[in-house]
Amino acid sequence: MIIIETTNAEETFKLGAKIGEQAKPGEIYTLNGDLGVGKTVFTQGVAKGLHIEEPVNSPTFTIVQVYEEGRMPFYHFDVYRIGDIEEMEEIGYDDYFFGNGVCLIEWAELIQELLPEHIISVTIEKNPEKGFDYRKITIDGLEEERMR
Ligand code: ADP
Ligand code: MG
Repeated sequence: MIIIETTNAEETFKLGAKIGEQAKPGEIYTLNGDLGVGKTVFTQGVAKGLHIEEPVNSPTFTIVQVYEEGRMPFYHFDVYRIGDIEEMEEIGYDDYFFGNGVCLIEWAELIQELLPEHIISVTIEKNPEKGFDYRKITIDGLEEERMR
């Protein structure tokens, strides 16, 4: 378990970029945390680390947004608005989960039952006592060497 504290959006972005730089094909990152906590900021960092230059935002009207131009394919899921788990089947999620790109899933807790055993989970939390821009980022399932 890796715990990192950030005090502004840039730091969270850079953490994402560091992880994106070292990400390997087939890895699945899950991202949990309340609205406005910084999931998309983190994701934009990951995209940067994968050498994706086009803008990355939350895929609001589709469950998954595919980026092919980086070091490897990047599959950005946001399952916040998913109504039924069947919607994941309909988009053929397993081609992404078990493909040769990197998956990142915002609000992954909503599709818990579909997640494979080996995932890297990232949880972002605020702490009002530590200031408006403070975030605690807990990463589970990632080799600690990658944080050096
Ligand atoms: P989410 O995708 O989780 O709903 P966003 O990434 O869209 O959240 O928004 C996070 C907001 O919080 C941004 O406006 C960002 O500038 C701000 N922010 C402030 N401090 C931080 C921090 N330490 N890490 C990430 N974002 C931060
Ligand atoms: Mg978001």
